[in-house]
Amino acid sequence: MDMKESAVVLLSGGQDSTTCLFWAMREFKKVYAIGFKYGQKHVKENDIAAQIAKENNIPFHLCELDVFKQFTHNSLTDPTIEIDKEKPAGSYPNTFVPGRNMIFLTYAAVYAFGIGVHNLVTGVGQADYSGYPDCRNNFIKSLNTSLGLAMDYEFEIHTPLMWLNKEQTWELADQLGVLELIRTRTLTCYNGIVANGCGECPACKLRAEGLKGYLDKKKLMTLNK
Ligand code: ZN
Repeated sequence: MDMKESAVVLLSGGQDSTTCLFWAMREFKKVYAIGFKYGQKHVKENDIAAQIAKENNIPFHLCELDVFKQFTHNSLTDPTIEIDKEKPAGSYPNTFVPGRNMIFLTYAAVYAFGIGVHNLVTGVGQADYSGYPDCRNNFIKSLNTSLGLAMDYEFEIHTPLMWLNKEQTWELADQLGVLELIRTRTLTCYNGIVANGCGECPACKLRAEGLKGYLDKKKLMTLNK
């Protein structure tokens, strides 16, 4: 198979990565997916990822990692820490898991190498949200170079959401014909509630504001037609 024809998608069962799965299915002939069980409170997201992959005939692998649970303290993996509602001044919210995207992408690259795939797809972005350092474009470019050097192999990390805000991510889902699927099946909520979620946590608020923004815009466009 031509190197341009296949990709490995990092799939967590959330809005962003699931949108990326369908984006990859449009862009590549053969798509594989990888997910991670890293001690997150809401492991249900892995079942969602596996189920959506299965329905679309996408091979899905789940990797188990204990490094974050062993060595980091953050509110995504430690049930005793309450999730920050706001981004604290001068630092990251306690949902930040240090090194997470680097390790996930490195595992994905190892998987891709083993099956002769050169393209990796991840849903990270820097247009809005908490500004996690490992979601930024300069980090992705740097890791892309490092992975290539590490394995003497050509990788291309694709980040279709890098410059999109949540409203635009919903728009992309709609263009891909999966707005309803993403809306009703994926899990983004920090409190582990599928679809519209708890409505209270920062992830839910961002998701809901983006959806409202996009649907309002769509309605306006339809009215003006
Ligand atoms: Zn929530």
